[in-house]
Amino acid sequence: MASGKEFGSGKTAQQGKRNANCSFCRKNYREVGPLVEGPEDVYICGECIELCQSILDQERRRRGSSKKLFNRVPTPREIVKELDQYVIGQDKSKKLLSVAVHSHYKRLMHNLEIGTEDVEIEKSNILLIGPTGSGKTLLAKTLAKSLQVPFAIGDATTLTEAGYVGEDVENLLLKLLHAADFDIEAAQRGIIFIDEIDKIGKTSQNVSITRDVSGEGVQQALLKMLEGTVANVPPQGGRKHPEQQYIQIDTTNILFICGGTFVGLEDIVARRMGKKVIGFGNNSETHEERAREELLSNATVEDVMEFGLIPELLGRLPVIGTLAPLHEEALVQVLTEPRNALVRQYKKMFEMEECSLEFTEGALREIAKLARSRETGARGLRSILEQVMFELMFELPELERGQKFVITEEIVKGDRKSIHRGDSAAA
Ligand code: ADP
Repeated sequence: MASGKEFGSGKTAQQGKRNANCSFCRKNYREVGPLVEGPEDVYICGECIELCQSILDQERRRRGSSKKLFNRVPTPREIVKELDQYVIGQDKSKKLLSVAVHSHYKRLMHNLEIGTEDVEIEKSNILLIGPTGSGKTLLAKTLAKSLQVPFAIGDATTLTEAGYVGEDVENLLLKLLHAADFDIEAAQRGIIFIDEIDKIGKTSQNVSITRDVSGEGVQQALLKMLEGTVANVPPQGGRKHPEQQYIQIDTTNILFICGGTFVGLEDIVARRMGKKVIGFGNNSETHEERAREELLSNATVEDVMEFGLIPELLGRLPVIGTLAPLHEEALVQVLTEPRNALVRQYKKMFEMEECSLEFTEGALREIAKLARSRETGARGLRSILEQVMFELMFELPELERGQKFVITEEIVKGDRKSIHRGDSAAA
């Protein structure tokens, strides 16, 4: 029986309505349970009521958030200032990014304000080239944070063409949706960072047939997303199933920042410029490194194409920024200067235990040197520092309050005795 009240008249649905169907999903009340009856033989089932409710909620959230998101787009200078608080060096890339990002959101806001699509948003997705641990991810992450837009990180090497083992490119959008708390409108204006974009290159110089060619398929899938498409995102992630409901996300206004180390790109640049990478008279390590740095900063779209990225994809990454490896001096700065610098974090922890902590200049240099030798850029700093501080952190909560600890070069070099004795570590 279709139970429920007829709106307006207050009548209850009668036995005669035995064959009532939901007017929205057409299912019979036997399948979906009681129906609410409206005027003129209109019915709605519980499932459709819930669906309507979620649509209304989403719409309410969308209206609420779109007002909040873009009150004012910061100027490039303001964006650089914000980046400077967290990222050491990389000034050129900071400027490039800030201009691209400012223009992107300015155009987006313009379209929202006038409420038309007649000014086409020219996307300015960005390609960041630089060694591991030089700040590519950090730059993208900090940008998203300062603009207060949702942010997601993906790795190009885990992506596969739909239907193959691995992650579909749509899963990146799902991550963004998670970051946006399932606010689709906010996600559609978010930033996605795709790392290791160079690893899906098809390396055109190497015409070996054993080399996997699937890279190009992934590039094509990425291309669609970068260009702007309405993607069907499976809400639970994973493989797509034909019977699954999808969330549709329009990627037109999502800003994509791609990053890669592009090892060997400098050789391509050198060849084009008729230069040699090595052979500047002085073959010292730093000399060669500076030469490579210089070459990389001259990289053009054509060089990256030769490296193996398809022209269409590069066409969608019009802004190319290069990041230099962090030298010893910069690594010391990374340790101490950013707002959430590692040394500041340790000092804070000591303060919380009513003790104080200092690092000598020599200690900081030694940590930077060790990180350099690992060739993981600033990424290695944390684990080195953790190793140095481990014993002391173990003891800290039980140590006498009011002590001052000084971490010296010797301690970093592994002179554990001086920490244990307490008197040379504690001044
Ligand atoms: P990648 O270039 O490989 O993406 P990341 O941005 O992930 O490097 O850097 C790893 C970590 O190293 C960051 O979380 C950050 O703590 C530190 N780091 C790297 N580069 C910089 C930098 N230029 N300024 C400050 N910290 C940095």
